[in-house]
Amino acid sequence: MAFTYPVSQPWLKGRELSYVTEAINDGWISSQGPKVKEFESEFARYNGVAHGVACSSGTTALTLALRALGVGPGDEVLIPEFTMIATAWAATYLGATPVFVDCGDDLNIDVSRIEEKITPRTKVIMPVHIYGRRCDMDAIMELAHDYNLRVVEDTAEAHGVRPVGDIACFSLFANKIITSGEGGICLTNDPRLAEQMAHLRGMAFNKEHNFLHKKLAYNFRMTNLQAAVALAQVEQLDEILATRREIEKRYDEGLRDIEGITLMPPRDVLWMYDLRAERREELRAFLADASIETRVFFKPMSMQPGYLDPVWPTLNATRFAEDGFYLPTHTGLTEEDQTYIVGKIREFYGAR
Ligand SMILES: *Cc1c(COP(=O)(O)O)cnc(C)c1O
Repeated sequence: MAFTYPVSQPWLKGRELSYVTEAINDGWISSQGPKVKEFESEFARYNGVAHGVACSSGTTALTLALRALGVGPGDEVLIPEFTMIATAWAATYLGATPVFVDCGDDLNIDVSRIEEKITPRTKVIMPVHIYGRRCDMDAIMELAHDYNLRVVEDTAEAHGVRPVGDIACFSLFANKIITSGEGGICLTNDPRLAEQMAHLRGMAFNKEHNFLHKKLAYNFRMTNLQAAVALAQVEQLDEILATRREIEKRYDEGLRDIEGITLMPPRDVLWMYDLRAERREELRAFLADASIETRVFFKPMSMQPGYLDPVWPTLNATRFAEDGFYLPTHTGLTEEDQTYIVGKIREFYGAR
């Protein structure tokens, strides 16, 4: 069913078409084209980080990052309960064990609960900036320093938040703040990690390209066509973030006094406008009838069949998953759209 007000829609109003046309006219459609490097350096520069390694998705970015840090069987990776499953899968793909840490009231990893999960096998902490809310990175970096751990930030939902970890991994899926349809990128200040990730991404070909491969690697490459779109998106990122800030403000203003609705803490950049609601499923059905799409929160990792742990009903993350959801949030959402959506929510709760 197509909604008049979808939760997400890509914003392709810059030079996307002209860059893609250029790529086609020049015959550069694979990962070997010049737009890939241009995107990598533009996005790294935007973030104040030295190196960018573009790849095929956020999931493959996370996998490349952990693999470049040497994560493998026997290692433990600290991962938030409240995240998208790809964060945990990246560790599992490599034979490592994800160890889950519950979330705090901002949905992000609860920093006060990290230490109790650290063992001699712990290698990496993977904070996720959920819905665009930055984790307490000062505290996380300090813990990492004290226990000699590496930090891989899952920045899939937080383009515009400045990375400080060893590697930051962005998704460029169509519903993210900026997109290339499918795609991802790793940012790091460490030239050796950047080189490792680029090497692993491209099947570990050696310099002579003589088909001797010394490592089990991947084809996680981004195409020049994707990079053409991504580059045009980076050029608009400041503007996109400013527009989204306005969207956040208007939802806050329209919803804050409704009995039955609980607003969430402010976001550093807006990916999705998250909130909590009494009678959530009734409300969602009412909104769906008004052609407004909504989506529920992530389910805790300990509730996933692959990671099932009987502690899940006691988690903070479970409590949020029960009444949390998000509203249509995309750069093209107009003031008029928001007035309609807010009006429907007010109508549901009988708020004037
Ligand atoms: C979207 C997302 C991913 C995965 O990105 P893909 O590009 O879809 O592979 C990983 N982590 C988080 C937190 C995400 O929101």
